[in-house]
Amino acid sequence: MIVVTWGSATDTGRVRARNEDSVLAQAPVFLVADGMGGHLGGEVASQMTVDTFREILGRPTVVAADIPALLQDAIEAIRMRARVDPAVSDMGTTAVGLAMVTEEGGDYWLAFNVGDSRIYRLHQGVLAQITVDHSYVQDLVAAGRIAPEEARTHPERNIVTRVLGVSDHPVPDFWVFPPEPGERFLICSDGLSGELDDDDLAHLLAIDAPPFELARLLVETANQAGGRDNISVIVVDVAGADSDDLEQVDRRDLAGPGPGGPAETVDLPIVTDEIPTQPRTRRAARLARGRDEPGDPGWYQGPSPDGR
Ligand code: CA
Repeated sequence: MIVVTWGSATDTGRVRARNEDSVLAQAPVFLVADGMGGHLGGEVASQMTVDTFREILGRPTVVAADIPALLQDAIEAIRMRARVDPAVSDMGTTAVGLAMVTEEGGDYWLAFNVGDSRIYRLHQGVLAQITVDHSYVQDLVAAGRIAPEEARTHPERNIVTRVLGVSDHPVPDFWVFPPEPGERFLICSDGLSGELDDDDLAHLLAIDAPPFELARLLVETANQAGGRDNISVIVVDVAGADSDDLEQVDRRDLAGPGPGGPAETVDLPIVTDEIPTQPRTRRAARLARGRDEPGDPGWYQGPSPDGR
């Protein structure tokens, strides 16, 4: 099992009138949703996504294929509500998160992303962004048309290219990787990453403080930097190698899929021993391809690492 501690904080910021972010921070899932859309749309869409994911809190086991299914459930719930409620007809939301999943008897992190909220990972002093933004400026960076540092100030940096929403058929990104003792994750909305750059985040996340204190400190610091957007933060710590708790963790499980286990859970093409330390769009997954059907709208059709 993965032994974790966590803390979260969300704040309207200093400029916006409402907080359209929603947060779910409870093992086995840590989710941030950043809503958008006129009137009350943003907060409805992000809250509906959190409510959809609440379903897995009581389950004894969560498998990787549960996560894409929940994202699809959230989209369908949002669409159904938008159809009958003109006040939220254009709503949408990002969804970024980290889930503890069991596959073939081993425990893994499953990171997932739709939109421009982010997951960072700090391990042995190195901070890396795991997710890749689904945003216009990220596309410009990937195309070599602007430098990464220009993305932070680009006038169109708020354009998100994938959302859980009414008209989009978003292809979520997924990464599955084993937990490592002592790693720390930050899951946040762009109200944090827009105010604090990677150096600021690396500095703050290196502070030896419990996750709930760090989450509050990050929000406070983003507010001091301007607080121009809603700010949501989850900090998740995996127990360190010196922790007694870690004796419960089976190293063989950490190293990769173990032998045995029911055959129907085998279809996980992107399980890797390699922890993502930089954005890898090629890891966009076909996680639940066993459930995918020809003609389904674009789900799980991310580029394959092996070209198949
Ligand atoms: Ca935002």
